[in-house]
Amino acid sequence: MNNKEEEFIPYGKQNISEEDIKAVEKVLKSDFLTQGPEVIAFETDIIDFIQVKYATAVNSATSALHLACLALDIKANDIVWTSPITFVASANCALYCDADLDFVDVDVNTGRICIQKLKSKLEEAKNINKLPKLLIVVHLAGTSCDMKQIKELANLYGFYIIEDSSHAIGGDYKGRKIGSCKYSDMNIFSFHPVKIITTGEGGMITTNNNILDEKLKLLRSHGIERNRDKFKNNYLGPWHYEQQRLGFNYRMNDIEAVLGRSQLKRISEFISERNIIYNIYKDILIDLPVKLNPIPKDVYSSLHLAIISINNCTKKQHRIIFEKMRSQNIGVQLHYYPVYLNPYYQSLGFKGLKLINAEQYAHSNFSIPIYPGLQINQIKRISLALKKSLEFAGLF
Ligand SMILES: *Cc1c(COP(=O)(O)O)cnc(C)c1O
Repeated sequence: MNNKEEEFIPYGKQNISEEDIKAVEKVLKSDFLTQGPEVIAFETDIIDFIQVKYATAVNSATSALHLACLALDIKANDIVWTSPITFVASANCALYCDADLDFVDVDVNTGRICIQKLKSKLEEAKNINKLPKLLIVVHLAGTSCDMKQIKELANLYGFYIIEDSSHAIGGDYKGRKIGSCKYSDMNIFSFHPVKIITTGEGGMITTNNNILDEKLKLLRSHGIERNRDKFKNNYLGPWHYEQQRLGFNYRMNDIEAVLGRSQLKRISEFISERNIIYNIYKDILIDLPVKLNPIPKDVYSSLHLAIISINNCTKKQHRIIFEKMRSQNIGVQLHYYPVYLNPYYQSLGFKGLKLINAEQYAHSNFSIPIYPGLQINQIKRISLALKKSLEFAGLF
């Protein structure tokens, strides 16, 4: 059975239809390739789908995070907190703005920010006058953090919230779409191919605050204002545009936007299929000493990732199982190695940091494949491979 010829199954992958291809082809034959009518239409589609007031399309979620921080005027000496169990971009954005970064430990069962740890860290920070200006929360695997509680703490201690929903577009929290910003100042999505819907590369920022929205739109395109009503100088003629802030070229283009619009039409299908696969895994793995990360009752998860924890495994056994899965051509992945353990972060002074839950989580969990189009025979192959790997590590 351990057949080397068996195809590699990645942990996630895009799903492109003939319709998607036709939509892109149409734009390629049109007048607009860069930011044009399709970008505006994609933003409008997202506003309607999410039920939020404003949306700004950009060229990646990394750019979205950077602009969201700048719109909140994050700068040197401001304190920003985020989760250590995330992709590095959730933390890097604070460093782009020269802010002081710190990490809040996670819940060891979910990998998402631990409310108790957040509370006690806030209380300590208050005592030494080092409260954060901003908290970036991460909806790991597409499952929302407990935003209501986090928002209550934000009101109490006075910090902004950005939701990193790179994994989570299409999911719900307390009956509202993630990204509706009921409990946050801004929210960002990623359209990287491995995420829920793709534009190739791309991202989006949503908010209900028009002042933030205007800043985002200015910053995404060099800080240049083209609206005559908003000029700071006197109107100098029809050529007139003016740079008012230091911005970037973080624009999405129409080729990407039209693909995003086409993909968005199938998002509900994608997510229900992910939920079906998750439930099949739940049944099929029932006799193994593993547990799929739980989903709270008030959450409909987009299930970007199917993360399992291995019961009572050592760090060494975790590695053995992981390697054994890879050797059977199953594309398991670790989501994530704590950000602060990366050499760059260690060099910044995080050498002394040890977040017990985050490190425990990283040594006992990994993602198994989940994506629309994953077949039942592949799911069976994955579960069989997992059984073998657990046996090999002496855990079954
Ligand atoms: C993928 C990802 C990002 C970055 O997304 P890009 O669109 O590739 O820039 C940021 N945060 C998280 C949690 C991610 O998974």
